[in-house]
Amino acid sequence: MKQIGLLFLSCLFINAVTLGQEIEESKDDSLYLNIVIPEQDTIVYSFSRYRVAANTNPGATAYINGRRAKVYSSGAFIAMIDHEDDTTDIIFRVEMDGESLSDTMMLVRPMPEEPNLSKNIISDLMVEPGSDVWLEPGEALNVQFQGKPGEDAYFNINGFTDNIKMEEVSPRLVGGKEGVYRGTYYVREGDAVKDAAITFKIKKGLLGYHKRVSTFKISFLPEPIVGVVITDDAYLNVGLGTDRLGGTKYGTIPEGVKLNITGMQQGMYKVRLSESLDAWIPRRFVELTDEELEPVSSLTGNIRVSGNARHDLIRVTLSEKLPYITTQEIDPNKIIVDIFGATSNTNWKIKYLTSEGIESVDWEQVENDRFRLTIKLNNTQNWGYSIDYGWGAIMDIRIKRPPTITSVIKPLTGRVIAVDAGHGGSNNGSLGAAGYQEKDVTLQISELLKAQLEEAGAEVIMTRTDDSYVYMSERREMTIETRADLLVSIHTNSIGYGSDPLQIKGTGSFYKHIAFKPLAEIMYNRMTSLGLDDYGLTGSFNFTLNAPIEFPNVLVETAFISNPEEEILLTDSDFQHKIAEQIVAGLEQFYLEHSFIESVSDMPEK
Ligand SMILES: [Zn+2]
Repeated sequence: MKQIGLLFLSCLFINAVTLGQEIEESKDDSLYLNIVIPEQDTIVYSFSRYRVAANTNPGATAYINGRRAKVYSSGAFIAMIDHEDDTTDIIFRVEMDGESLSDTMMLVRPMPEEPNLSKNIISDLMVEPGSDVWLEPGEALNVQFQGKPGEDAYFNINGFTDNIKMEEVSPRLVGGKEGVYRGTYYVREGDAVKDAAITFKIKKGLLGYHKRVSTFKISFLPEPIVGVVITDDAYLNVGLGTDRLGGTKYGTIPEGVKLNITGMQQGMYKVRLSESLDAWIPRRFVELTDEELEPVSSLTGNIRVSGNARHDLIRVTLSEKLPYITTQEIDPNKIIVDIFGATSNTNWKIKYLTSEGIESVDWEQVENDRFRLTIKLNNTQNWGYSIDYGWGAIMDIRIKRPPTITSVIKPLTGRVIAVDAGHGGSNNGSLGAAGYQEKDVTLQISELLKAQLEEAGAEVIMTRTDDSYVYMSERREMTIETRADLLVSIHTNSIGYGSDPLQIKGTGSFYKHIAFKPLAEIMYNRMTSLGLDDYGLTGSFNFTLNAPIEFPNVLVETAFISNPEEEILLTDSDFQHKIAEQIVAGLEQFYLEHSFIESVSDMPEK
């Protein structure tokens, strides 16, 4: 049974938390008590169960709220406590040789918001949307505010239309709040409004209306506006949603690409990719063009397929740098590139003899404005590829050839392997009850991995080599620019505050692109062979270092540092060695299964 739905991978986003404690060998064996969770004396917490964690001398006896807690060999002790009332005390007590220590922490339930019912005014508490919005025909403008219950309420789109009726919403639908009014305007073809404020109105006795003018502005766009991507780290988001790792992304998009912008909300532009598909892009990545332009589009020219010893090259001639989305398939191994705004003008395909890695390139006009290239590869594994705009608006798709192995005993000879030690510096990652921090454990394992990989003949790129803070974008760029052949990211997992750390444990491997699933699968099997529980093989995972298409990559969540038994394993140097050994063995297996094996000097006798 997987319980992924109930949890979250807290280790990936926990930010700067300084524990204010260090793990020290206690020199005089005197009794100590370190509380790890909660991290402050008073915590505002709204759920009914909360996990606490602390550590003491391994030989001590520990109690949490009077109940005895098992003290592990690391000194860790944990408990789940009920938080049913407005406040819950958490009393930690430890005893040893007639000595005792105790400390009390507190959980507090958040106070419900007081409704603003005293005056007949419009509260700015709930005026929405709250930031500027651009809409296109067919979309709905939804507004709301909070005011005195039981009145007539309206809104105006200033300079455009007046007195659109608003309805009072049942308090049950809005968290018990009274006097919440909502209204909607459906944008029609031809509606054109630029930067209009909204005036909210609520009846004031018999005399008239109280009014409040919004600070946000509304625009209706009758036609798309053309924007240009101005950075080289831009990406397209699938939707407006966000989660802890950021909203789901389609992938990166190069500088200079032109986009048809049809809307704006929550700091993101809406991008029309095709008749049936929209995407979103953060505003900071785009500069709008001033001129009135036709929507960006292009006819496609010839498709040329060639290659050299390292990669195959597919070159598509376009007249504009258009947005694209790339996906892959496995069994058989394919790369798919959808180019938006492109329409086929030719069916020429020129394939040169040098393009050994490509079995076929086919195109299809999926929609009027969506041109799809399907590239079938000759080998079983996608080793990574890149998409760039070269001279003018020529799209270059470079696909790596499988490596050639000259030693089956040391298949990693000459390979460039990137090892990413998760977190670092002010970003501690997740915490174990014995007081160990994820950032230290990941660095220890990564250093062992580096040494073993080098012994196996590989060249290793470390995204960090000490306890320093390295941005995720830096880690990503570093591995792409150094032309890493493959990346392994090392983390330890953790659970949320409402989950039981004894129930949730095990090892997990994560990938985003289906093309790199085989690597994640091998790592997962290798890690479970260490006797760790299976926490699952997870795909479509939205982690920054699972995003590159340029090389196979995998995130290894070695084990749960929040589970006291796994914390002991993760901080044991023998076990850390074993983890590194399994990862190296997994990489060797991956290379042996998917490379060309040529003129091997050490091929075993049959
Ligand atoms: Zn982590």
